[in-house]
Amino acid sequence: MLVSAKEMLIKAKEGHYAVGQFNINNLEWTKAILQTAQEMNSPVILGVSEGAGKYMCGFKTVADMVKAMIDELKITVPVALHLDHGTYEACYKCIDAGFSSIMFDGSHYPIEENVAKTTELVKVCAEKGMSLEAEVGSIGGEEDGVVGMGECADPNECKMIADLGVNMLAAGIGNIHGKYPANWPGLSFETLAAVSEKVGSMPLVLHGGTGIPADMIKKAISLGVSKINVNTECQLAFAAATREYVEAGKDLQGKGFDPRKLLAPGVEAIKATVKEKMELFGSVNKA
Ligand SMILES: [Zn+2]
Repeated sequence: MLVSAKEMLIKAKEGHYAVGQFNINNLEWTKAILQTAQEMNSPVILGVSEGAGKYMCGFKTVADMVKAMIDELKITVPVALHLDHGTYEACYKCIDAGFSSIMFDGSHYPIEENVAKTTELVKVCAEKGMSLEAEVGSIGGEEDGVVGMGECADPNECKMIADLGVNMLAAGIGNIHGKYPANWPGLSFETLAAVSEKVGSMPLVLHGGTGIPADMIKKAISLGVSKINVNTECQLAFAAATREYVEAGKDLQGKGFDPRKLLAPGVEAIKATVKEKMELFGSVNKA
């Protein structure tokens, strides 16, 4: 069923595990993630970036597809449909389209403007029964086409934004989007502990989950991270499996060119990745 991310993340924080946000790109992606969540009896968050929303013919198409799929596949685990790194304008588009959760990425605004816009969205989301994620301190990587090393958020700023009434907070702790460079210094647990102490029971979000070593993920969860975003890892798994299929010449055998056959290994690879992450994050059987 489609729900906001609020309850599932409160439960995760209390239970010391994290719920995965897996970004979707098309029908196959969505189906693979929903089926795996059901199979693992795990709550799940489907992430949609603005670019992916545009690619899939708009947020309304996405919301209607997800709702229909939940119905058709008889998905009973809690599913949140969440806008990833939304601009102010995209947040309203997703509210209208029927999403159950949004992230307002106001990190590039001056703090006063971030506060004003976040305050407004807190009110709208509460009225609609939706959950809201805010970001403090820019998360590095390829965000907005700029590659950075991963900033660390100011714990006092985190406390200020958390107190506005958001449901989850993404704080930069040296994490970055995409693949991590060889000279990456690792997550700043010092920052995470300081943020955690300031914001109390507020669920924290770790962006850029691809390639963070398992022991760091576990430590981050123990320090209050309750939502972990995974995007690139599913893309890499899908691409590798598809490459293997084509390189083996399987698309040239029989009806191997049929998209239902051509895309099948990639779909299985996404499922395996999602399963592995749910096990690592501890969300299996927490639906
Ligand atoms: Zn992110």
